[in-house]
Amino acid sequence: MKTPGAPPLLDVAGLVKTFPVRAGLLGRVIGRVHALSGVDLQVWAGETVGCVGESGCGKTTLGRVILRLIEADAGSVRFGGPEASDVRDVRALDEKGLRRLRREMQIIFQDPYSSLNPRMKVADLVGEALAVHGLARGAERQRRVARLLARVGLDPSCASRYPHEFSGGQRQRIGVARALALEPRFVVCDEAVSALDASVQAQIVNLLRDVQEELGLAYLFISHDLAVVRHVSRRVVVMYLGEVVETAECAALFAHPRHPYTRALLSAVPVARPGERRRRILLAGDVPSPLRPPPGCRFHTRCPFVMEHCRSVAPPQRETGSGGWFRCHLEEE
Ligand code: SF4
Repeated sequence: MKTPGAPPLLDVAGLVKTFPVRAGLLGRVIGRVHALSGVDLQVWAGETVGCVGESGCGKTTLGRVILRLIEADAGSVRFGGPEASDVRDVRALDEKGLRRLRREMQIIFQDPYSSLNPRMKVADLVGEALAVHGLARGAERQRRVARLLARVGLDPSCASRYPHEFSGGQRQRIGVARALALEPRFVVCDEAVSALDASVQAQIVNLLRDVQEELGLAYLFISHDLAVVRHVSRRVVVMYLGEVVETAECAALFAHPRHPYTRALLSAVPVARPGERRRRILLAGDVPSPLRPPPGCRFHTRCPFVMEHCRSVAPPQRETGSGGWFRCHLEEE
C-alpha cells in the first residue's frame, strides 16, 4: 500500500522464519514450525499499522524478526530514509549497525508485570538504554528520566520506586517511557494493551497516540483485539498461519472485508450502534499445525467457501484499490 510521494520507513519483503522442532536425547531436528512464510509489509513514518490474527498466526514473530530479536531465514527488512543513503538492510547489519538501529526501533511488550525487571528501580529501568548507548549520565540522565516519566503521565518521584509498587497501567506507562527513552522512529507494540482493563487500555492507547503526534512515531500495533486495532490503525494487515491474507486501509477493511478469514474475524467484533447486529461467522475446527501448513490456500481446512482447487493451488493476490489486496480464489460476488 503506497503513501504518495514518500518511501516507506519500514519495507519488509518475503520474510520467512521457521523454528526447528527437536526430539530425543541428541536433540535431532524432526520438523520445522513455519512461523512466517513470505510476509510483505510496509510502514510509513508517523502511521500506525495494525497486525491482527489468531494466536499462532506469526504476528509476534513478525515483530521480533523486524527488530532482529530473532533472525529470519530469508527475506529482506529495510529501514530508514527518507534519504536513500539512510536506508539500511537490517538483516545485514553488524553489531555496531544493530546498536544504532536499536535507537530507532523499539518494542513495548504485552505483559507489564513480567517485562520489567523487579529488582531494578524505575530510574534504572527507564534510564538503562540511555546508559547503554552512552547518551546521558549522572544528573543529566536523571533529568531525562524525570522528563520521560512526566511525558507518560507519571510523577517523576516514581523514579526511586520498584515495579511491584505500581498498577498494571502504571507499569505499562513505564514500559512506554523505556521505549521512548532513545527517541525511536518506529515502535512495535506487541499486544501492548491486551493485559490491561478496558479503561486503562484506553488511557495507554491515548498516550501512544499523543506521543505519536508529538514525535511522528510509526507503530506496528500487534493485537488480537480488533476493536482496539480499529481504533488506533490507519492500515491493517491480517495474518493467518504465517501469511498475510489481506491488507487494506482500516476503514475499508472494516466496512468491506474481502477475505473469508477477515470476514469471520470481523464478525466477532461487537457493533457500537444500538440495535445493529453483525451475523457471526463461526469457523469450524482449529488453526492447522504450523508444522505442516496445508497445501494450496492455508485457510482451506476452515473456509466456508472452499472449492476443490483451493486445496492444491495457492490463491492469487487480488488488488482492491488504494493499495489494498487479499489472497483468495473466490470471485467477487
Ligand atoms: Fe476460502 Fe478458497 Fe478463498 Fe482460501 S482461496 S479463502 S479456501 S475460497
